Amino acid sequence: EGYCSPSGPIESTHCLYETVESLNAQLFPALHELVTYPFFRHYKVDLYKECPFWYENGFCMNRNCGVEAADEDEIPEKWRAAALSAVKVSSADGEGVSSCYFKEQDFCYVEDDADQNGQYVDLTLNPERFTGYAGDSAHNVWRAIYEENCFGLSEASLSEMSKAGTSPKSKGEIASAVVGAGGISKPSSTASTPQDSGWGFSKLSEGWGTEMVKAPTGGEGGMCEEKKVYYRVISGLHASISIHICHEYLDQATGEWSPNLECFISRLATHPERLSNVYFNAVLLLRAVARAAPYLEAYDISTSPVGMEKESDVLTRKKFGEVLKLAGGEEMGKGFDEGDFFAGPDAVILKEQFKTHFRNVSRIMDCVGCDKCRLWGKLQVSGIGTALKILFELDDKALDPKVNPDLLQRSEVVALINTLHRISESLAAVEEFRKIYASTQIEE
Ligand code: FAD
Repeated sequence: EGYCSPSGPIESTHCLYETVESLNAQLFPALHELVTYPFFRHYKVDLYKECPFWYENGFCMNRNCGVEAADEDEIPEKWRAAALSAVKVSSADGEGVSSCYFKEQDFCYVEDDADQNGQYVDLTLNPERFTGYAGDSAHNVWRAIYEENCFGLSEASLSEMSKAGTSPKSKGEIASAVVGAGGISKPSSTASTPQDSGWGFSKLSEGWGTEMVKAPTGGEGGMCEEKKVYYRVISGLHASISIHICHEYLDQATGEWSPNLECFISRLATHPERLSNVYFNAVLLLRAVARAAPYLEAYDISTSPVGMEKESDVLTRKKFGEVLKLAGGEEMGKGFDEGDFFAGPDAVILKEQFKTHFRNVSRIMDCVGCDKCRLWGKLQVSGIGTALKILFELDDKALDPKVNPDLLQRSEVVALINTLHRISESLAAVEEFRKIYASTQIEE
């Protein structure tokens, strides 16, 4: 009893765990179907960029790390055409209007259909699950990502700068100041000190922890809400990946794939704050999808030329509508209130710092030494980046499909929805682990 019954508010949100869970009972099957349709399962990504931060030689030789490319014949002509026109615009007009108009607002490096080096991947052929990627290479990447949590300027110095009117003026200045001041660096080898918070999910509402890195100044209590959001988003993503690994675990002795309760207990159940952060990501993504619903509803998800829609296009639109309705349903309320963040006197600087760090996370993904892990890592960072952009950069006017039909690239929409699906599947897997655990208790 009490093992898996999270209750109480999710910190920084006005939403109950139970609400997310009851919504997820409907949302997960709908999303699970939606991501199998052609528009959502094809993602173009460059998996072979060099790691820009350190020499990475920990490549996973395990065949489970491999990525299967999509069948090129399945890629609709219109996506290629869109890519070609983007190239033309960009060569004629410097950086390119269509892809760069909102670059300033991006929270991550966006891979897209126009990327010359990318290749199309069929996501349904490459499920996120246990690959065997582990050890120093994986730990270095996670450590580097958590170290991005060390914002370059302390809270105190931020308000000092504001008071003195010495805030950096250009966003570029801020970015380089932050990167230079303890931003991205080769991961150190200092051992981490995980804070096991004891057995049981009942403590889910205890809030967030900082497991791998210490808060930059003044301890956790001194951290502003924006930094907490950064940490929770990363920790929630990490926990969600761990849930998928434990849920689709390969027993290397028998060659069978099945849920591994021990894995779940040691990585998740004994760390309730990690689970809490998965719920946090669910709420954040749902809020972003709900806010952008009118824009997404009008998005061209068909894979065929105008007037020649296939049956799968009609089914995609119908399922997408269902997902958008669920995400924007009344039971969730606002869930996550973006108005609570980046509103104080240091808002501009904090937001630029946040963006710089999150962009660095998307570049750190090129250092992941396992192709399949890199694929899902990149996609999810892009999905979260898109959600953050919707929440913190775009107002209702910008999100009006008539005013801004090209606001989001296809890859951003695909990443956003697939990331919500990853998180939603994690929540469904937690339910399943509860049942598995309960059955072991009865047996005893
Ligand atoms: P890790 O998960 O590597 O964690 C390292 C340390 O981080 C822990 O000791 C703990 O101190 C801390 N920590 C762990 N979880 C959290 C959390 N949620 N919040 C805060 N701190 C935490 N492996 C696969 O099999 N399949 C995949 O698809 C896959 N994708 C990956 C994607 C990325 C981007 C990366 C970096 C790795 C991926 N891996 C994947 C590897 C996987 O995440 C683990 O690194 C690996 O399974 C080894 O796990 P571990 O138990 O040593 O701890």
